[in-house]
Amino acid sequence: MTTRSSDGFGTRAVHAGQEPAPGSGAIMTPIYQTSTYVQEAVGKPRGGYEYARVTNPTRSALEANLASLEGGSFGAAFASGLAAIEAVVKTTLSAGDHVVCGANVYGGTERMFRTVWSRFGVEFTFVDSSDLDAVRAAVTPGTRLVHVETPTNPTMALCDLAACADVAHEAGALLSVDNTFATPFLQRPLESGADLVVHSTTKYLNGHSDVIGGAVVTDSEEIAEGLYYQQKSTGGVPGPMDCWLVLRGTKTLHVRMKAHCANGRRVAEYLVGHPAISTVHYPGLASHPQHELAKRQMRDFGGMLSVETGSAERARALVGATRLFALAESLGGVESLISVPAAMTHASVPEERRRQIGVTPGLVRLSVGVEDSEDLLADLEEALSVLQA
Ligand SMILES: *Cc1c(COP(=O)(O)O)cnc(C)c1O
Repeated sequence: MTTRSSDGFGTRAVHAGQEPAPGSGAIMTPIYQTSTYVQEAVGKPRGGYEYARVTNPTRSALEANLASLEGGSFGAAFASGLAAIEAVVKTTLSAGDHVVCGANVYGGTERMFRTVWSRFGVEFTFVDSSDLDAVRAAVTPGTRLVHVETPTNPTMALCDLAACADVAHEAGALLSVDNTFATPFLQRPLESGADLVVHSTTKYLNGHSDVIGGAVVTDSEEIAEGLYYQQKSTGGVPGPMDCWLVLRGTKTLHVRMKAHCANGRRVAEYLVGHPAISTVHYPGLASHPQHELAKRQMRDFGGMLSVETGSAERARALVGATRLFALAESLGGVESLISVPAAMTHASVPEERRRQIGVTPGLVRLSVGVEDSEDLLADLEEALSVLQA
């Protein structure tokens, strides 16, 4: 069942990295719930594995699967998305180095960079990554890493990955892209010149809201060695059960993403025409300021969108009135979620900065799931009638 790089995305999603288990022939990769492995003689491990912080067969299968989906040669799984991003910092940077980071990256990423890594002498400049001139202007002689997300959370602004890779490489820096929102089904940053792709596998890759996990994929053997060194030396690795769950999730990534995209588009188009909503942020709409870039860079436009309701009160009324869209943080699961970023995911971001990145009090974010679209539209219709009353 060895996959080829010429196999289609769906074929690789189902099979890449996974062989029937030696011995039993189990078609599903077993959950190797073990901390250590027997050695034939001193220094001669029977199956090539020594200690499970360093390597675990369930984790190895997931890492190979994710590498294949991103079109990279190497994958490294971590205990969370933030652990994966931290591993990127520890692999590529030293004290005194400078990072250019997108201003509206995931809030936890910004918090880690600003409050943890800056204490260890790494310097950060946060810029609007949809503005390439701003990215270029932020580069210093000490810049070693450019870290961006596209589309961004929650305003769905895009970053031109190929152009950003050029800016990073001209400066002698690496480009790292958090591809959590788009997933490799919609966008493959390595093909646009990125050096590292990071994921919170917690979201679409696992897809069922029952795991916290992260991963990094790269084509560079040197970077990969650095990531494996971090797994071994700093230990932020996922357990085998969690790896197995993510591996189970990626088998249906292509199927789920098609459904997320179809529903996302229907919900976006419905909301554009709704009198209670002033703006809809969705890259698939022709009215999105970067729609052309979205068409060039993404295969489809995903299931994430945000809408402007006008005020904090109206936002709260809407999210309190939906039946199917559950009020919760996170995203990318099969079930639809709704949230108020300013009061939830972005509550720790200073108000001034929230304004700069477009996170208004009345902004509502939707993670559109794979339920029947008629039911999702009816749910929103009913909930929005509360705002008009
Ligand atoms: C959730 C998320 C993260 C953090 O991942 P965890 O698995 O929660 O640690 C990082 N980046 C993006 C874009 C996310 O949505």
